Amino acid sequence: LMTGTIGAAAVAMIASACASEDEGGGSGSGKKVGIAMPTKTSERWILDGDNLKASFEDEGYEVTLQYANDVAADQVSQIETMVGQNVDVLVIAAIDNKSLSGVLAQAKDQDITVIAYDRLILDTPDVDYYASFDNTKVGTLQGTYLVEALDLANQAGPFNIELFAGALTDNNAPYFFNGAWAVLEPFVTEGKLVVKSGQTTLEQVATENWDGAIAQERMDNILSNFYNDGSVVDAVLSPFDGISRGIIASLQGSGYTTMPVITGQDAELESVKYIISGLQAMTVYKDTRLLADTTVDMVLAVLDGKTPDINDEDTYDNGDHVIPAFLLEPVSVDVTNYEVELIDSGYIDAADLG
Ligand code: BGC
Repeated sequence: LMTGTIGAAAVAMIASACASEDEGGGSGSGKKVGIAMPTKTSERWILDGDNLKASFEDEGYEVTLQYANDVAADQVSQIETMVGQNVDVLVIAAIDNKSLSGVLAQAKDQDITVIAYDRLILDTPDVDYYASFDNTKVGTLQGTYLVEALDLANQAGPFNIELFAGALTDNNAPYFFNGAWAVLEPFVTEGKLVVKSGQTTLEQVATENWDGAIAQERMDNILSNFYNDGSVVDAVLSPFDGISRGIIASLQGSGYTTMPVITGQDAELESVKYIISGLQAMTVYKDTRLLADTTVDMVLAVLDGKTPDINDEDTYDNGDHVIPAFLLEPVSVDVTNYEVELIDSGYIDAADLG
């Protein structure tokens, strides 16, 4: 018969477990993690870096966090330095997904666990796990938003749309673009959507370094070459808030007062303000706090000799093998739900929007 008491040995075990936690030992005590993030020019990566650092430190890890200002070669040398410091784990959001095979081979020689963070690393056997969002779904949400905002189920159009994608060096860019294009292309075929520039392939619409200024210049060219006959742009597929802001600047520069329906991604503060003021229609919100937590849980499991939680084992082939992944759900946010999704969740402080 079970009674309400537990044995003295169990009490002693619990007490000692609590004591070691109180000392801040954590399961990562004495272990080192190297975190390589791409750039500080976009808010999201600053949040990612901060969240990861704080969570790993809470677990007792010693953390090295580096940003490489979107220069792939600098990121490679930062990771080489981390390998030289004998880190136990590398968490990498790659700038150029094909530039890391050499340094990751060195990492594997030292049995370092490698996690591809948000962006998959290609053409190497030396990636252990992938933590990200459902990247195809990001594109699906953007494409679907445009279709619904233009009410293409009921309207014949034709509506003019222009397309933008991210950096070709980022494995996510084709996932976002293909996800959106799968939704949009049937309407182009049907004639309800028209891409006046004729630029519809990923290579034609990609944006080097995800750079808003480069997107702005491309939009300037599109407007002066294809919309100089009085026609207007009704919608723009944009993969990322920083690119959306470049596109909006271009449209404003050429006299638009009412904006086309424009998508985005990352729920950056400035763009959420744009959504509230009507300049941008939507963004795709990806809670980077959850991504950091997921990554830390993954690392804790692996270093503890356990198999981490995985919810996708067939999507992300990196050219060498399929990388087991944990994918989080992205959320479509516009003026109707930003308060619930972004403010009530604590992702954005209402005071910062004022
Ligand atoms: C990320 C996006 C981000 C983009 C530009 C992508 O890899 O998944 O969230 O907008 O990079 O930084």
